[in-house]
Amino acid sequence: MKPPTDVMVITAHPDDAEFGVAGTVARWTAEGKQVVYVVCTNGDKGTSDRSLSADTLGEIRGREQLAAARVLGVREVVFLGHPDQSLEDTPEFRKEIVRLIRAFRPRIVVTCDPYRRYIWHRDHRVTGQVVLDAVFPFARDHLAYPDLLAEGLEPHKVEEILFWGADDINYRSDITATFDRKVAALRCHESQIREFANPHVEEWLRERCAKMAEGETFELAGAFHRVELPK
Ligand SMILES: [Zn+2]
Repeated sequence: MKPPTDVMVITAHPDDAEFGVAGTVARWTAEGKQVVYVVCTNGDKGTSDRSLSADTLGEIRGREQLAAARVLGVREVVFLGHPDQSLEDTPEFRKEIVRLIRAFRPRIVVTCDPYRRYIWHRDHRVTGQVVLDAVFPFARDHLAYPDLLAEGLEPHKVEEILFWGADDINYRSDITATFDRKVAALRCHESQIREFANPHVEEWLRERCAKMAEGETFELAGAFHRVELPK
């Protein structure tokens, strides 16, 4: 049995968490909270460099993700290893996520918003939807997956879900003190920063996070759609 975790961050690709939630992750780990990452694909199609094979890119991106997680104090990274651009809303994928939620028993799950309009990576849309369904009701109900129960994976009730990339933002997290660690973690994803259209990543990110914090008492924010689950 694994020790329970406070937070499980479930992403489609290596680097999604660093763009989406890393400032808040750094704050949580500084407060002593346990954070686990689940990365669903190996990101092996995210390049315009024709000299890179998918296998090599996948290996690079796995290493980059581990380095970023170390910067943020993430306890463990689980790689599901699906090919990039391959995720589908299937019973098998949903069960994989339920298995992990029941094994790690997080209080908070963080993932990408499946309902963002319109340009949104299909893997993001599928991951958000499958995670939402896995949390409620599949991880919760003991009659779902009797085989998992027989393995000792008891049902688990997640208390809240935070979705990054949301059009409908209803929760802003203060990342003023941890913005620099978000940037440091993001810089671990060298292969992706190279692909990024804007060479001034830090300035671009600071402006975005400042805009997210408008109307708050703090300077820089991570922004989410927050959902509390029924007890
Ligand atoms: Zn992504």
